[in-house]
Amino acid sequence: MPGRKIGDITVRRVEEVGGPSFTPEFLYPDWTPEHLEKHRHWLVPGCYHERTGRFLMGIQSWVVETKHHTILIDTGIGNQKSRSRPTWNMLDLPWLARLGEVGVTPEQVDYVLCTHLHVDHVGWNTRLEDGRWVPTFPNARYLFPKGDYEHWERENRTSPANDGSFNDSVLPIMAAGKAELFGDAHVIADAIQVVASPGHSPGHVCFKVESKGESALIAGDIMHHVMQVYEPDFSTSFCADRDLARVSRKRILAEYAGTPTLVMPCHFPAPYCGRVVSDGQNYRFVFAD
Ligand SMILES: [Zn+2]
Repeated sequence: MPGRKIGDITVRRVEEVGGPSFTPEFLYPDWTPEHLEKHRHWLVPGCYHERTGRFLMGIQSWVVETKHHTILIDTGIGNQKSRSRPTWNMLDLPWLARLGEVGVTPEQVDYVLCTHLHVDHVGWNTRLEDGRWVPTFPNARYLFPKGDYEHWERENRTSPANDGSFNDSVLPIMAAGKAELFGDAHVIADAIQVVASPGHSPGHVCFKVESKGESALIAGDIMHHVMQVYEPDFSTSFCADRDLARVSRKRILAEYAGTPTLVMPCHFPAPYCGRVVSDGQNYRFVFAD
């Protein structure tokens, strides 16, 4: 895959899963059947699967190659992990091979960044080796948002946080001495700017990549599905603070609408990224070619 050029930087996508996923009524508490009719003209066939009544979504990582560093952003569900959601339980997927297909070996990764610490964003941080969870990327520094880490570190003292992923995909990285926590207004590897966007999780962030006047926003879960560009008031059933998530999303949409910045969320279906445009009242999403 050639990747997308952002000035001197290249961003490539590595897919873990894709296809029909959540039903709209499960994902969005504010969903009504009328929303399907209102949005059908752009939802079908690329973003909604009529036969199953499910949104088309995926789980993907973004690999950012700068002149000096290979940076992996968000690491999916991971393999051989015990999870309560049947479709995410004990996966055995060729995600590492797909990483290899975009020219990256685990040893080459310099930084692993997580937009937040939900179960579907930390999985490949670790892999199982001789019955132990070890860092998948032996030479990488792992950077976690401090707000998320502190929140779930507390919760994890009484019950396994984030469906067990805090124990098998976050704490082993801390124990190996490979993790750093970052706050807001942080710049990573001289190339990536942290954009605070709390609400979906306590410390959720987006990452802005800029080079030679071009930019991309690796947007994590600021929007789960394209629907939230068209209905920015929709927060998801997974959002820790739906009101704050809404405020953060509207701020990001207002900031990037009408700009050439390529928005690259974690869960959008093919072709996976694009630009936000506004007619003054409503937003639309224009997928990149
Ligand atoms: Zn997610």
